Amino acid sequence: MKPQFHPPVLGRRALLRTSLVGAAGAMLALPGARLLAQTGPAGTTDSASEKGARLVLLGTKGGPRVGGKRSNPANAIVVDGNVYIIDCGMGVTAQAFKAGLDMAKMRAIFISHMHSDHELEFGNLIYNTWVAGDLRTRIDAYGPKGLADMARNYWATHSSDIHTRIADEGRKDPATLLAVHEFEGKEGLVMDDGVVRVTALTTPHPPLRDLAYRFDTPYGSIVISGDTAYNPELAKFARDCDILAHETLYLPGVEALVERAHQGDAFRNHILNSHTSAQDVGKIATQARTKKLVLTHFVPGDMDWITDQMWRAAAAENFSGEIVVGRDLQSIAIA
Ligand SMILES: [Zn+2]
Ligand SMILES: [Zn+2]
Repeated sequence: MKPQFHPPVLGRRALLRTSLVGAAGAMLALPGARLLAQTGPAGTTDSASEKGARLVLLGTKGGPRVGGKRSNPANAIVVDGNVYIIDCGMGVTAQAFKAGLDMAKMRAIFISHMHSDHELEFGNLIYNTWVAGDLRTRIDAYGPKGLADMARNYWATHSSDIHTRIADEGRKDPATLLAVHEFEGKEGLVMDDGVVRVTALTTPHPPLRDLAYRFDTPYGSIVISGDTAYNPELAKFARDCDILAHETLYLPGVEALVERAHQGDAFRNHILNSHTSAQDVGKIATQARTKKLVLTHFVPGDMDWITDQMWRAAAAENFSGEIVVGRDLQSIAIA
């Protein structure tokens, strides 16, 4: 029988729900609201008949630098065809398209922390979905303090285009189709829409704090670490999950990164103090008893001399289970 995870529920005070939908704000979903009730008719797309849960790696390179074979951090979890996006690094929209995701079934976006490689394309993803005609019912976005401001500022920055399209093309105001929920760091329930139950754990990522997210679905559970220093608490949070997607740092690559970025000790210390080495990721996976470890958010993620085998071997020093060295657009189903 599948072990069940029962995290404590966030107190209302811990949730700073922020509405961007004006008068409609009173109708905003509280955690626990059922978003499916607002969706369009079933059976109109291929994804409507999709059953099961899978993780789709949209971008697997850690850091904001663009280039190389991997796109910047972004993930999707697809449950019975419903799409949940976790992090919005540069390129997320194009990657979602390439992955064949049905963005009309995007239900919610989760942001792990406010480093740009995780939120730079947050506004653009929503805009692009809207302008493609796929944002027709309200979606929710969850993340740390600052996310609501980011959304507000995005609408302001693009107000000329948006209001032109509303007047000229008869579109709905996209700001009314997004509800942003900020929450402060504490372990607990973030959202339960009747399809997935999402909980969060605050984990250190100096000088920021990161939110790891756990998705419990009818088919099993998926945990996404976000960016984190080595944190055994994360192993408890991820206990007995089916898939643990964990950021990973290759220590012998750090000096090359520092040199290429023309940086010094401060940059080196940031990398070393705020991320988890592949060896320590293996420890977390073992402590968590995860069925499958997926390495992602590779740092460095664009140096070809670091092979898949090197990543795998480093993690395998401390984890004897299945290790997937993640690739962009890879879809990993819960078995
Ligand atoms: Zn990152
Ligand atoms: Zn970060």
